[in-house]
Amino acid sequence: MKRAVVILFAAGLALPPALSAQKAPAQRQDSAYTAKIHEYLQDPRITTELVDHLPASSTVPTPLKFLGRIVGTPGELTHARDIHRYMEAIAKAAPNRARFWTIGKTEEGRDMVLLAIADEQTIKQLDRYKGMLNALTDPRKTSEADAQRLLHTAKPVYYITSGIHSPEFGGPEMLMELAYRLVVEETPLIQNIRNNVITLITPVVEVDGREKAVDTYYWNKKYRQTVGQLPLMYWGKYVQHDNNRDGMGQYLDLTKNITRVTLDWTPTILHDLHEAVTYLYASTGTGPYNEQIDPITIDEWWMLAKNDVMEMTKRGVPGVWTYGFYDGWVPNYLFFIAHTHNAVGRFYEVQSYGPDNYEVKPPVTTTSREWFRPNPPLPYIKWGARNNTNIQESAILFALNHVAKNKEMYLENYWLKNKRAVAKGATGPIYGWVIPAVQHAKQNAAEAVNDLRRQGLEFDVATSAFTAGKVQIKPGDYIVRGDQPYRTIADMYFALQNFSPANPAPYDDTGWTFPLMRNLTVLEATDKSLLNAPMKKVTADVTAPGGITGSGSVIVVDNTSDNNLVTFRFRLASVKMQAAEDEFEADGHHFSPGAFVIADANRAQVEPVLRQLGLSGYAMASVPSVKTHDLDVPRIGYVHSWTRTQDEGWVRAALDHYGVPYAYFGEPKLKEGNLRAKYDVIIWPHGGTPNGAPNAGGFGGGRGAAADSGKPAPNVPIPYRRTAEFQALGYPDSTDDIRGAVGADGYKALYEFIQQGGTLITEGSTAAILPQMKLTPGVSFEDPATLFARGTILRGVITDRRSPLVYGYDRGEVPVYFNAGPVLNAGAGAPPPVEVAGAPAAPNGGQAARPAARPQGQNTTPMATQLKLSPWDPEHTGEGYGMLPSTDSAAGRGGRGGASGGGGGGFGGNFTAQPVPGLTADPAARTRVVMQFPANPADMLLSGTLEGGQTLVNRAQLVDEAIGQGHVVMFAIRPFWRWQTQGTFAMGFNAILNWNDLDAGRAGKTTSDR
Ligand SMILES: [Zn+2]
Repeated sequence: MKRAVVILFAAGLALPPALSAQKAPAQRQDSAYTAKIHEYLQDPRITTELVDHLPASSTVPTPLKFLGRIVGTPGELTHARDIHRYMEAIAKAAPNRARFWTIGKTEEGRDMVLLAIADEQTIKQLDRYKGMLNALTDPRKTSEADAQRLLHTAKPVYYITSGIHSPEFGGPEMLMELAYRLVVEETPLIQNIRNNVITLITPVVEVDGREKAVDTYYWNKKYRQTVGQLPLMYWGKYVQHDNNRDGMGQYLDLTKNITRVTLDWTPTILHDLHEAVTYLYASTGTGPYNEQIDPITIDEWWMLAKNDVMEMTKRGVPGVWTYGFYDGWVPNYLFFIAHTHNAVGRFYEVQSYGPDNYEVKPPVTTTSREWFRPNPPLPYIKWGARNNTNIQESAILFALNHVAKNKEMYLENYWLKNKRAVAKGATGPIYGWVIPAVQHAKQNAAEAVNDLRRQGLEFDVATSAFTAGKVQIKPGDYIVRGDQPYRTIADMYFALQNFSPANPAPYDDTGWTFPLMRNLTVLEATDKSLLNAPMKKVTADVTAPGGITGSGSVIVVDNTSDNNLVTFRFRLASVKMQAAEDEFEADGHHFSPGAFVIADANRAQVEPVLRQLGLSGYAMASVPSVKTHDLDVPRIGYVHSWTRTQDEGWVRAALDHYGVPYAYFGEPKLKEGNLRAKYDVIIWPHGGTPNGAPNAGGFGGGRGAAADSGKPAPNVPIPYRRTAEFQALGYPDSTDDIRGAVGADGYKALYEFIQQGGTLITEGSTAAILPQMKLTPGVSFEDPATLFARGTILRGVITDRRSPLVYGYDRGEVPVYFNAGPVLNAGAGAPPPVEVAGAPAAPNGGQAARPAARPQGQNTTPMATQLKLSPWDPEHTGEGYGMLPSTDSAAGRGGRGGASGGGGGGFGGNFTAQPVPGLTADPAARTRVVMQFPANPADMLLSGTLEGGQTLVNRAQLVDEAIGQGHVVMFAIRPFWRWQTQGTFAMGFNAILNWNDLDAGRAGKTTSDR
């Protein structure tokens, strides 16, 4: 106890009087806890007067009392369930200052929680305060006079989230101590926060992943010496790091739950805690900033970040900085849920918690003194869990205090942003959007409406026909009014992106235009009369009108590329169905190739399913005279890597959502062989292991586990199984041994599977593997160094409209998501000439000299360099979707080196698969290019970015290589990208549905049903 007092005194001495005065001498301190804080801190510079002690409480348990250890104890981690129990205990012990409740379940059935903290009178009237913020959200309901009054009485909600990234351990730990401190401490600073801000805390966003990560840490503590290192195999059920790329798509339960809280509470600030960089980074980003964010928000980012940097710098804490990490462009992060709702989103990246102590020796690019880090990280420091706790707890307290002191400014800004959003409905140029209810894929359109409604975008439905300028509205069409506060969602998602390559390398995707990625017709209304159209609010999920018209024993379901068609097939798996191989007319209807034909149909069985799925069937007396093949329901095997489970989850999500059953197994199982006896289709998504690749990588285990003895790993199986001690492990797949990948025998078995009549479906990196191994004679792999195409939307040109892979696609072109590679050459001709310095600029063609795109001298205006987007106008109306007049004036120029950039989401195909000795290509293989890049680079870029488009000329986007009796379907695009590319899901589903008839419609070939 004595020791602690001495240290506290010393710490106080080092501070300017104004800072040390913030400590209230009256409150009793918890000396045991405080002593531990000092014992565990690895460097005396990483502290402030806010966190170098813990006040005592006779009622509220400290983490030490509750868990038996303080926050920041080296070598220990806390499960989410215990963090949740602790948060609940705080609320029970201090009901006047804290409230606790659950906010939804995860995929694996665990709770997500929320703790609210404020002063007594606020907690007593929590709903009243919530109502005030709700009122400031909606200028349609709140008068200016009322709002002006509310600005003085309302309190900002500062919503802190953490633990979305499972190996980033510190945030959830620190938040326990922060919650305790906010409830218990009586310093003026904490009182100011409690009295003026409502703090909401969700300590663990990825609850399933946290439990696995903590179990993995302790498993390794116990077994790594004798068994070996177990990486963190899975986080949540579907994805790992990409759980923070779900802000737009919103497939994951964690995203939906946080969105629900956002819509309910309308938080003023949403602050997400991460661990990726040196000491502490407070987000602003390098730019370019998302162009649909209200400019006020950008200033708020900077005020908040600079406040953190300044307050920490004042106290001599090194290494707190902003700007030089991440960009601010793509709205797919969790914290962007704040921006789509006109609030402020921000995040920290903190030096890793550990939890084992370690040393940090950053490179000079991290320690140099720059304008954005006036007090940079040190060349060397000892780090540990308590350093991590101190630095982020201090910074977030300064942030809370800043918002408490400036609450009226933040509330006024919030009100102003909502007003400005609504006012766009009066000033245009876009007064709203219309999604025609009757369009080619009408159920896909209905699903898009439901997905956006869930995010808070309000929809109306037209009640009678109306014309608004050029937009013809029919009854039943979905209308997004442009005079609603959350029109920001539509502005942000529906707009085209033009990411100048002159910017710093993008951190993630550059293009995301929702109508393009979903291949939907969305009309922008530039005539104000739209708002006068007769309409009524959509108040529940919508379904496209479905069912059966006509009569007769034959039912034909048109192929519209609606994703529910695959659901229909699998739900009625025992019903015999055929696919038409050509278009045809029957009973006055025109049907596309791929239409489902059900002879001798049981209408009572089929009709309810069609109605429920929003699909239309036509009953007729006789089977139409068109060539058909059976839609045989396949047995599907689904292969995942044990070294990188990050990416395949999005494909699995699409199969699960649309009811496609499959057997899920790891790559090593392939070598058991005899695959054709077990499966008809094998799906092997992006992230699969190329032959010869080192069996490592991915987003793996904790730091503590990595700091090992240096001894070689014992050569024994490493299991991934649920046990009584480690209950979170072994899901969604389990194995007795995670080691190994496909291996030579696995590749031989896979090739044999194809030759024997199986269909292998690959996408992204796995689409490159067989070409790299020279097993697909018609398809070769290219790796053009001059291509720059980071997460962008390009034009797909359908070259073989009779291929079953594009059944249901009624146009010759489709917008596709492409991310850097792979580039597959299936007969496009010789590789393009290499870049020549000084060659004339070609729009997006990559033939120009690199410096041409870069202004001389300081380039502080990279966005002044615009690329020329190619218009998306599949109906040939003469007007490209979303084209703004200014984008036509400038031409893109210049070349750029290989794709690179910040966090997650690259092509991931860096390793070139090696041939397997004795495994050679089937000489009779036949190549069928179904979709490819345009012949002219200027026609490629629809939204996002592109340089070096010349290297993509006529390269294949979707190839069907027939090998022996079977097929390899190679998607160089990413048909199932992050629950955003619903417009290309159907191509993947087509491959599944027509797995043994992929030769249908092939030139010079009659099909035979296998
Ligand atoms: Zn993170």
